Amino acid sequence: IEYDTADLVILATILTVTVAYFTKGTLWGKPKDYFTDLSLANGAARAGKTRDFVKKMAEMDRNAIFFYGSQTGTAEDYASRLAKEGHARFGLKTLVADIEDYDFENLDTFPSDHLAFFLLATYGEGEPTDNAVEFYEFLSADDPQFSEAADEPLQNLKYVTFGLGNNTYEHYNAMVRKVDGYLTKLGAKRLGAAGEGDDGAGTMEEDFLAWKEEMWQVVCKEMGLEEREAVYEPIFKINEDDTLTPDSENVYLGEPNKHHLEGKGRPPYNSHNPYIAPISKSLELFTVKDRNCLHMEINIAGSGLNYTTGDHIAIWPTNSGRETDRLLSVLGLIDKRHTVIQVTALDSTSKVPFPAPTTYDAVIRYHVEINGLVSRQFIASLAPFAPSEYAKAELTRLGGDKDAFHEEVSSRYLNIAQVLEKLAPGQTWTSIPFSLIIEGLTHIQPRYYSISSSSHVHKDNVAITAVVESIRLPGSKHILKGVTTNYLLALKQKQHGDPNPDPHGLTYDINGPRNKYDGIHVPVHIRHSNFKLPSDPEKPVIMIGPGTGVAPFRAFVQERAAHAAEGKKVGKTLLFFGCRNSEEDFLYKNEWPEYAAKLGDSFKLITAFSREGPKKVYVQHRLLEHAAEVDELLKAGAYIYVCGDAAHMARDVNATFGKIIAEHRGLTEAQGEEVVKRMRSSNKYQEDVW
Ligand code: FAD
Repeated sequence: IEYDTADLVILATILTVTVAYFTKGTLWGKPKDYFTDLSLANGAARAGKTRDFVKKMAEMDRNAIFFYGSQTGTAEDYASRLAKEGHARFGLKTLVADIEDYDFENLDTFPSDHLAFFLLATYGEGEPTDNAVEFYEFLSADDPQFSEAADEPLQNLKYVTFGLGNNTYEHYNAMVRKVDGYLTKLGAKRLGAAGEGDDGAGTMEEDFLAWKEEMWQVVCKEMGLEEREAVYEPIFKINEDDTLTPDSENVYLGEPNKHHLEGKGRPPYNSHNPYIAPISKSLELFTVKDRNCLHMEINIAGSGLNYTTGDHIAIWPTNSGRETDRLLSVLGLIDKRHTVIQVTALDSTSKVPFPAPTTYDAVIRYHVEINGLVSRQFIASLAPFAPSEYAKAELTRLGGDKDAFHEEVSSRYLNIAQVLEKLAPGQTWTSIPFSLIIEGLTHIQPRYYSISSSSHVHKDNVAITAVVESIRLPGSKHILKGVTTNYLLALKQKQHGDPNPDPHGLTYDINGPRNKYDGIHVPVHIRHSNFKLPSDPEKPVIMIGPGTGVAPFRAFVQERAAHAAEGKKVGKTLLFFGCRNSEEDFLYKNEWPEYAAKLGDSFKLITAFSREGPKKVYVQHRLLEHAAEVDELLKAGAYIYVCGDAAHMARDVNATFGKIIAEHRGLTEAQGEEVVKRMRSSNKYQEDVW
């Protein structure tokens, strides 16, 4: 939602009156509570603050600003880490800044002895993240209007850039590359290389670590900085408060914001404020040794949420009891897990990433990503707090050795608590400041799912199709359990009458804080997407969706079948689906004939069962076999849709279409690829990949 100034003033006034009314003055005089009203927090927070970062830096006596353009939180996390390191190691006076919170007209007045860092993720098809749109539009304008219209307006600006991208997408790191180009063209001077991290290759963290070491050397030389011995300074103050208990009504036990604390939440529901939705149906589409796939229907009636076919639903997960206990135990906090803590930011520019007062248990269970890939830098930062000299030396070794870290930690899918357990068996890590845990682990992120129902047919019920993540390494007892999908599995088990749902001993607290999720509920929000059927149902469509990539195509076919049943003419609807085996993991096997009965000749399902024949067959092979028909449909204006695995399948399918077009139209392969590219830019080739 975009607000103009008048809206912001009105919003701020409403917020003030609302807060005054509901709190009856109890909040006056306390530090700003970011979570007081999340539906308004961003707009209201922006209303009263300056958007002039040069002025703000002067007022706060800062000389380095770290702007982040972040969609899922990684760029923001990197900005915070870099700012912290810049301060601890080199004495920079740092400020972390959401790029959306500032105007850039006076970037030309940025002092030459200051430094600006830009940590920018690329989103979707080479686009800026939502919070970086305004900044990007300003900088990419033909003639950006700076406050002092000089020839090389940014000649005083020294800057550093790092981009977060995914090389499986065509416009790899487009955002940082373009921003870097514009800044240089306007006369600014970049220090160090323009860093690029690649999520597609799984090397984001290592790319970041390698880039930043060289970058700091250049920055030190250029800015005359000297490295000092880094001493840890906490960002958050944690106070145990024995005047409160978990029963005190103002204590957050995992509720995402004040409305949820006071009741069960209130609309508008969005990425800051989930709807606690009832699950109307759940089942396993298949269950074979070590693999299963869930189908769930989530009811959004009366929530004010809506969706259209092709959108995504976000599920807000809860960490498992087993892993919550493991981390609390290893930190020596298990006995005081329900002690109430007050958490405040020690620096006015940092915000506490969850609402407080709360408990150690609630922070670990609901707010922190405790299972994910461990950061090597974080491991190194724990060394001073190790319970033994051996553990300290090991942390320093692993923190400093990329290959050893990969071999002993990340490739074994260990989480942070497992690493600490392994380095100091039977000991507790009581010296680690809890602030460091909050700083070093990322905030838990909702996971997205491509909605597998049609909004035309099931307006109020959102279906998802999710494979339960369960990865066992050969020769190891440890099984990596996906956070969200195993939580969903537990919900399914409970719905089917299991009184103690416990997939693989994970023990989820599925009734939620204060039993607010009882009766099989899950916190969700909806994200609208551009992955859409043509508005004219007569247009032909070609869909490629192996595995759970079939999710949105179940929705597409369901919708077209409904149109056909309503007497509408429906164009050719071709679906390529692939899985291992027709008897094992053929998703919605029994539904396709129902849709075919309604759609008649216009529907065709083409399957590729990779493990049935002597040779492995994938969807792209089937596509080639049907090349003539595919090309005919393309000539008749067909739209192409690809969903599922970004790393391999989507690329291969793209190349196969290029090949088919080239062969059938007497073009070179390069020209065939060019045709596919043009289809992409005119939205006739759409991808929904992950
Ligand atoms: P997580 O806990 O997030 O783990 C995921 C992976 O991270 C693991 O498999 C592993 O590779 C890695 N990992 C985790 N912990 C570690 C560790 N300690 N060390 C090393 N590696 C680790 N999925 C579907 O099934 N169906 C869909 O329709 C669907 N649609 C999607 C649409 C979009 C737009 C996106 C972005 C994703 C979609 N996904 C879909 C994927 C889904 O969002 C989740 O990523 C997936 O379900 C796994 O979530 P999880 O929380 O269970 O696993």
